[in-house]
This record gives sequence, C-alpha cells and structure tokens, in this order.
Amino acid sequence: MKGELNMAIQLPDLPYAKDALAPVISANTLEFHYGKHHKTYVDNTNKLIAGTDLANESLESIIKKTTGDAAKIGIFNNAAQVWNHSFYWQCMKAKGGGKPAGAVADKINKAWGSFEKFAEEFKNAGVTQFGSGWAWLVSDRGELKIIKTANADTPIAHGLKPLLTVDVWEHAYYLDYQNRRPDYLAAFIEKLINWDFVKANLG
Ligand code: MN
Repeated sequence: MKGELNMAIQLPDLPYAKDALAPVISANTLEFHYGKHHKTYVDNTNKLIAGTDLANESLESIIKKTTGDAAKIGIFNNAAQVWNHSFYWQCMKAKGGGKPAGAVADKINKAWGSFEKFAEEFKNAGVTQFGSGWAWLVSDRGELKIIKTANADTPIAHGLKPLLTVDVWEHAYYLDYQNRRPDYLAAFIEKLINWDFVKANLG
C-alpha cells in the first residue's frame, strides 16, 4: 500500500526450539535474548529508518552506510545488533562443539597449529573483550583470524567475512552463568559450535 511503512527488517526465526540448547544455554536465556533483546533491536531499527533514505535498504547496506557516522550511531548500533544476533543463533546447535573436521579443521590447523590453540585464543578473545561485545572467527581475504568487537560493532563493517561468533554481552550468559563468562565460553566451544555453519561460511 502506498505510504505504508516498509518494515523490511525482520526478526528471523530461531533455527531451533528455545529449549534446544539447554542446559548449556537455557530456554529462559533464549526467551529474553531472542524474544526481547533481538526483537528490540529489530523494532528499533525499523523505527529509526522509517521515512529515511535507508528505509528500503537491506540490513547489510544499512550497516555499511551508517558505520563511522556519528549522526547515525543509533541506527548502526541497532542494525548491527540485528545482524550479529541472526548470525550468532546459527553458530550454535544442540550437541555441537568440539573439534571440527575437513576443510575447517585444515584451515584452523594452518592458522593456529592445533584446534586446542585456536580454542584457547578464541576463548581468550571473549574473556578479554572489556564490557559488552563479540568474539569472532573471520576470514580476512582468505586468511583466518580471531578478532573481538565492542558493543554492536561487526566485521561486515570492516570488510571482513564472519565465520563464527560468540556473544559476550552479559545478557547472553548471565541467567545461566552469572559472572562466569569463561565458563560460558568454554561451554560454547565444547558443546555448541555449529561447525557445519562455519564450513558453509567458508564458501
Ligand atoms: Mn546479545
């Protein structure tokens, strides 16, 4: 309908039931994290872009067009958090985690020498991200790297290709692990990582 708001940015369905990751991540955490936090980022993005020249842009385009623009920091923060969370849900599955196989294992061994060394550095990136943010495995023009980003910041704003992420905002783990972020990260690595998703991202 003409004049109707274009609600282009959608909250994607979770790729599993809310209790599927329990007890590593509880249904209660997903109720809040997906049902409240992620949904609010979607709603805020749609409110902020309504009636602007970004209203008909894709989520990735909105992120790339607002990054580094102080006047559009609110749009960037909400849009990037929509993208980061949609990606994060896919990085996990029930009975995931542990060592990958095949091409992903080869790439990790080439970059870090062993899966154990990769796991140590990935966990360390999450533990040492001061305050809120994300730890990532990314491809930098084919070279695998571990990085961390603060708050809503996202590799796609920096020309990097995300392969895997873990959310280290307190809302991601506080109901299940309270202040024990290292325990949440260890459980994510040992029990949740969806390596098939990482492999698909390698392309
Ligand atoms: Mn989050």
